[in-house]
Amino acid sequence: MHLLSRFISLDSRQINDPAQTAFFAIKGIHHDGHQFIEQLYKRGVREFVVEEDSWNSNLIKKAEKWQGVSIYVVENSIQALQQIAKNHRDRFHIPIVGITGSNGKTTIKEWLGQILAVNYSVIKNPKSFNSQIGVPLSVWNIKPEHNIGIFEAGISKPGEMAHLEEILHPEWGILSNIGEAHGQNFKSEKEKLQEKLLLFTNSKKLIFRDKNGLKNQIKDFFKDKNPELELISWNTEDPQNGIYVHRKLEKNLCHLRFKKATQTEVFLELSIPFIDEASIENCCHCAILAHYLGLNQQQIQQQFRLIKSISMRLELKEGLRNNQLIDDSYNNDLDGFKLALPLLQNTHKKKKVIIFSDLLESGLKDEILYATIAQQLSNTTIDQIIGVGEKLYKFQKLFKSIKVFQTTQELISNGILNQLHDSAILIKGARKYSFEKLSNLLEKKTHCTQLEINLNALQHNLRYYKESIGQETKLMGMVKAFAYGTGSVEIAGILQNQGIDYLTVAYTDEGVELRKNGIYTPIMVMNPQVNDFDVLTEYGLEPEIYNFGLLRAIDEYSTSTGKNIKVHIKIDTGMKRLGFDEDQFEDLCYELQQMPQIWVVSILSHLVGSESEKHRDFTEKQINLFQKAGNLIAQAIGYQPLMHIANSAAIQNYPNARFDMVRLGISLYGISYKEEEKKILEPVLKLKTYISQIKNIKEEETIGYGRRGKLEGAGRIATLALGYADGYSRKLGMGIGHFEINGILCPTVGSICMDMCMVDITHLPKVKEGDEAIAFGGKVQIYDLAKQAETIPYELMTGISDRVKRVYVRE
Ligand SMILES: *Cc1c(COP(=O)(O)O)cnc(C)c1O
Repeated sequence: MHLLSRFISLDSRQINDPAQTAFFAIKGIHHDGHQFIEQLYKRGVREFVVEEDSWNSNLIKKAEKWQGVSIYVVENSIQALQQIAKNHRDRFHIPIVGITGSNGKTTIKEWLGQILAVNYSVIKNPKSFNSQIGVPLSVWNIKPEHNIGIFEAGISKPGEMAHLEEILHPEWGILSNIGEAHGQNFKSEKEKLQEKLLLFTNSKKLIFRDKNGLKNQIKDFFKDKNPELELISWNTEDPQNGIYVHRKLEKNLCHLRFKKATQTEVFLELSIPFIDEASIENCCHCAILAHYLGLNQQQIQQQFRLIKSISMRLELKEGLRNNQLIDDSYNNDLDGFKLALPLLQNTHKKKKVIIFSDLLESGLKDEILYATIAQQLSNTTIDQIIGVGEKLYKFQKLFKSIKVFQTTQELISNGILNQLHDSAILIKGARKYSFEKLSNLLEKKTHCTQLEINLNALQHNLRYYKESIGQETKLMGMVKAFAYGTGSVEIAGILQNQGIDYLTVAYTDEGVELRKNGIYTPIMVMNPQVNDFDVLTEYGLEPEIYNFGLLRAIDEYSTSTGKNIKVHIKIDTGMKRLGFDEDQFEDLCYELQQMPQIWVVSILSHLVGSESEKHRDFTEKQINLFQKAGNLIAQAIGYQPLMHIANSAAIQNYPNARFDMVRLGISLYGISYKEEEKKILEPVLKLKTYISQIKNIKEEETIGYGRRGKLEGAGRIATLALGYADGYSRKLGMGIGHFEINGILCPTVGSICMDMCMVDITHLPKVKEGDEAIAFGGKVQIYDLAKQAETIPYELMTGISDRVKRVYVRE
């Protein structure tokens, strides 16, 4: 079987480019892909791989009438997929790094991808596509431009790894952290380890952490199977064995020094932005491989600086009453538990407290699970143990001393937390227990002007739009301009995790930044420059083409480099900004016809007044003209590109403008001009600062520059750490803008300064220095403030300067 299609899909809902996609029908327990074949044929899919058992007479009869279709009947579609992936991989003579283990595979793969990007063009599995299906799909993406592959392989039962080994054939291996639970399908830990090691049957070098005699086990295992395999082991205890890693923690950094037993000199020295055991271990694997692949210390260090984990990783925070918080609401299994305990033990606070919830653990009976935890805790010097959850409640007798609450709220109401002082407190809870509430309660509020981005609200808004448009319509997330000021990498990462179909940035650099930070979702660049083409193709970014200059330039580039290029054609239907005008449609169609190597992924236009009823006629005209352009182009090029014209406001106001895809921008952040929608959407942003100083003012005194500020009589003012350089407009001075302090609105006094401003708090006698002041996102809504500043929410949001810290919160 030799597939002609560029893409492979096993999910009928996830096909972007039917003419270029081969569909593999798989019969699962809940779901049979063969049911969708006819429908997919109608949508333009022309290659199918089907299973003989499901390829019944009914389907055969239908398919006889289809034209230009290839149908491959196989015994087992997954095996066929694996075979195709193996053949594909064998065409490329590039080094492959294979990663397996119980924990950390995806993290190591993602970090390595970022680190190696300085010297290599990397291909890796998307997300954690590491299964019997995920690995072949990932491998299918290897292209000639890649010169290294990093793939993780995961297994759930014996016999699986051999298939993955055959596909990947990794030259390099990394064995990540090996957990204790062996799951239901393995007899023992040893059996599971050995199954995993099979990934390295033909490898040349294997990197792993030597602990509990692992090195000897591995040596034994490969004695006959792969005697040539070079074992690169590292450890933190014994300088005489393999690579010795010396670690030192300092605030939120960990300093690492790597030395080989055979040498006197340290060969690598790094500071990494992590302090938890799991992340440090993952970093060591990455750093050692990067070193062996020829990156120097400076490169490795610099790449580590770029690694920012969006996920809520373990954090050290200063608590109230001289407590120290170790916030680890992320890893909630037995291994995560074990990894966090030493951190608590090693803090300098005398008293140590742990608060944890029921664990989400598979493979172990509850009774054994909680007995194991009780055992682990009894081996430590922890002074106070607090548990939350039904299971802990049930098994509390297993613990020597524990105080258990059935819910988080019960714990909070009890008041026991308010008595903790001078302690190190480890907080570990599964998501559903909302332990953020505990850390909020215990945390010392840092004084810092910040833009809070509420991720729950963001997800809520996204879900609302997804449901409104239905499954048939795709969603494009507009993350231009630093995602409207909220942080493009973070927001793009969340949208990607939520399965958004496309992302859009304004300029090439913005797209590169996303790619460098692990964003693999397709990205459209709205305003590319002619000399960006190399960068665009290197990073897989898709340009919007809005005039003949660009179109001809990209055609020439594509012909001279032999690269097929995906583009988006912009039509000007009335904005008069970018795009082909109506009188150019004919020439456009003609030229596109001559450029078969240019793949028109989509056709788009932009509405100028979709938020306002008074422009309804004009908007309808725009939509009609757009439809016309789309029809002409599709006819000329012989296939139908995706069509999209709707921005946030149009999604609800003009359902007929949804076409194949909609472009969601400002409303993702909870901003809408429709009253009903305002009620449904949740505000995402909150800009807050704090009071630096409070002053009593006499009747005759004036406040600030030009003596413009004046109170009604004697009174009290607060100076806040927010000024026009932060994006709080000078137009908001003289009582026009208001801050919410302790739930009460306080007007500005005098002019807004560059870095500060003053507000009247005469009516708030209890307010003190250090208290919080909210500029918008509470009682003051972004709409109101924008109006007062004589602008629109878009400008207000994108005008919040870089120095305002972005903080992402989940509730
Ligand atoms: C910014 C932008 C959008 C998004 O607009 P919102 O009003 O924020 O939804 C859509 N399309 C184009 C071309 C844009 O530039």
